[in-house]
Amino acid sequence: MNPFNRSHARQSASALAIARKSRRFHRPVNDAGAYLSTSSYFGANTFSFDLLSATLPEKEIAKLKEFATRDEQLTFELADKVAKAVKDWAIKKGATHYCHWFHPQTGATAEKHDAFFSFDGKGRPIEIFSGKQLVQSEPDASSFPSGGRRSTFEARGYTAWDASSPMFLMETDNGLTLCIPSLFVSYTGEALDKKTPLLRSLHALNHAALDAMKLLGQSDIKYVTATAGPEQEYFVIDEAFYNLRPDLALANRTLLGRVPPKGQQLEDHYFGSIKPRILNFMSECEYELYKLGVPCKTRHNEVAPSQCEMAPIFEHANIAADHNQLVMEVIRSVARRHNLVSLFHEKPYFGMNGSGKHVNWSMSDSKGNNLLEPGENPHENIRFLYFLVATIKAIHDYGDIMRCSVASAGNDFRLGANEAPPAIMSVYLGETLTEVLERLGSQAEMTKRDRTINLDLAKVPVIARDNTDRNRTSPFAFTGNKFEFRAVGASASISPPLTYLNTAVAQALTDLNERLRAKTGGKIASDEQLLSLITEVVIETKKVCFEGNNYAEEWHKEAERRGLPILRDTPAALDVLKTPKAKTLFSKAKIFTEDELNARHVVLVERYIKVRLIELETLQELVASHVLPAVDAQTASIAMTLNALKENGQSELTELKKSLVKLCAVGEKLRSGNDRLGKFIGDCQRDHDLKVAAKIGNDGMKLMNELRESANEAELLVDDQFWSLPKLREMVIFS
Ligand code: ADP
Ligand code: MG
Repeated sequence: MNPFNRSHARQSASALAIARKSRRFHRPVNDAGAYLSTSSYFGANTFSFDLLSATLPEKEIAKLKEFATRDEQLTFELADKVAKAVKDWAIKKGATHYCHWFHPQTGATAEKHDAFFSFDGKGRPIEIFSGKQLVQSEPDASSFPSGGRRSTFEARGYTAWDASSPMFLMETDNGLTLCIPSLFVSYTGEALDKKTPLLRSLHALNHAALDAMKLLGQSDIKYVTATAGPEQEYFVIDEAFYNLRPDLALANRTLLGRVPPKGQQLEDHYFGSIKPRILNFMSECEYELYKLGVPCKTRHNEVAPSQCEMAPIFEHANIAADHNQLVMEVIRSVARRHNLVSLFHEKPYFGMNGSGKHVNWSMSDSKGNNLLEPGENPHENIRFLYFLVATIKAIHDYGDIMRCSVASAGNDFRLGANEAPPAIMSVYLGETLTEVLERLGSQAEMTKRDRTINLDLAKVPVIARDNTDRNRTSPFAFTGNKFEFRAVGASASISPPLTYLNTAVAQALTDLNERLRAKTGGKIASDEQLLSLITEVVIETKKVCFEGNNYAEEWHKEAERRGLPILRDTPAALDVLKTPKAKTLFSKAKIFTEDELNARHVVLVERYIKVRLIELETLQELVASHVLPAVDAQTASIAMTLNALKENGQSELTELKKSLVKLCAVGEKLRSGNDRLGKFIGDCQRDHDLKVAAKIGNDGMKLMNELRESANEAELLVDDQFWSLPKLREMVIFS
């Protein structure tokens, strides 16, 4: 056996991954042994509003459903009735515990379990669950990030039931827990989570949109809400490889590794047939998600090998955000059953395609009308144009804030690279709409020739729904009856981007409503008045609309010329939250007080710094304990060969000597680079402020890139048997 052989573990991992059998799970069957249809078990583990119909009158159920958009408080009397019904249901299903399930600012979810079990007044064991327990619980808030809003001595935080999102049962092998979707606020009512601001933004949007509906002559609408459908991309990797990569385990991404010569170059993965092992895993995920009431719709391979995507049918934004968290949790846990590990990082493999989350977004009224759907008649089309230009105005006025909503250490590798939209926010509308708006904007007479605009109806455009043209490079693209926000990172909660978008659109609508009121003197607007305002807005917001290739270098120059904000990385993007503009927007709409906004900023900056420091420290260790020993082993091996050959009278050997020199040079680079890295990490440990974040963003990233390149150079020079870390090609193409 070769004493230098360091690749045993790696080779065993390969053998294990290749030999793995697909896991079968037991899909439910009927008495005759036939598989049950999805619809028969869909939502089996959710406490739907229908289950309340025996307990509550329709009016009270409506109050719960509309909790996200109404200001009304729920009464304890109502909560008691719901608590009783849900307790009976959950216990019958086998649940023993309940928990308030919430979204702290960590990006993950949190829960604290309590048993239903208790004693009654006479000391007899019983199951108890009251309205008060349903409505509120009091976890220790001190270990969640708060941005300094809550020091440990006043650590009280409250979780409060979000009645608009259905409760659900989380199943594990040995039990069931009732999860109650909840808000998480401090003792003084400050938001400590991601759901509270989202609900506040839905209130703001509802308020502004209802006002708009009234001005448009529709006073029969009870509420307007946002809808969302997030397409989720992610990678899977065999756990045998994962376990041998400390960088994946600690930093969620590979910090070094040569890009395989055959990755996605042949473009044979996108929509390619799904490998049986992966398909089996996806099927089990979907089964679990269906039971939880998540309406999974599509699944396919993505552009990179071993990259997958799933998308649900869209839902109310608040529920969609909860469900996306569940999607990630379920994928994570089901993957393990299949000896896989899911990777939600935006760029798990440097040099290969990354993962994003396309958040499809629209607005819907209480009658179920999609407000971004071009309609059948002129009136609906004017309404459509009104809400459309309000959305364009939102991106125009608050592009920097939208950029900030997707800023994260991981997403910095995606935004701006040639696979995801650039960090510049612009709107893509497609040919038809662009034409309609251009005509309005230029105030040109519309002509009969026009192929997409029907002019027979009193100069009001009838807009054909246009689903045909697609621009995959735009960060914010209109796709027929909704916008697709493509800049969101794969690991991110969709709540912040939805919150910021709802808020920006609410503000744009408020502006438009005010201007319309000025035109009409408070009366219902005429079509002419509406079209004249829409026209003004089209002209004002022109610079944010871009139909071309967002990946092209020219667009960056053009965007700069247009004066669009270009915020290249997270430290730059987070600065936006400190601006008076952001403070005004969020405080006016009652999303964040100034203090709350500052606290968010602190949490985000700190998070960025922590993530990068973990990466830097992990890289330091990888270089010292994996790469350099391999380089040294190779150096020794060549030196030994040289000596042996010399002893046998071979003295020329120029090429062999050269390769030794080359290898030594790489080793030196790695050693000195790692030294500098160590010093740099030490320098960054003190304050965690924006200055340190920027320093890491510049100098830290440069150091990281240099070391990665040297390590990748070494990978090519070193005998495969000396290389201990699983190589990218092995990890990515395994099934
Ligand atoms: P594509 O990306 O090709 O347009 P789909 O039409 O299936 O794919 O839509 C992608 C996502 O957009 C799905 O999750 C879908 O439910 C969602 N979606 C469709 N309509 C709306 C809407 N009105 N509001 C929010 N999301 C929507
Ligand atoms: Mg899409």
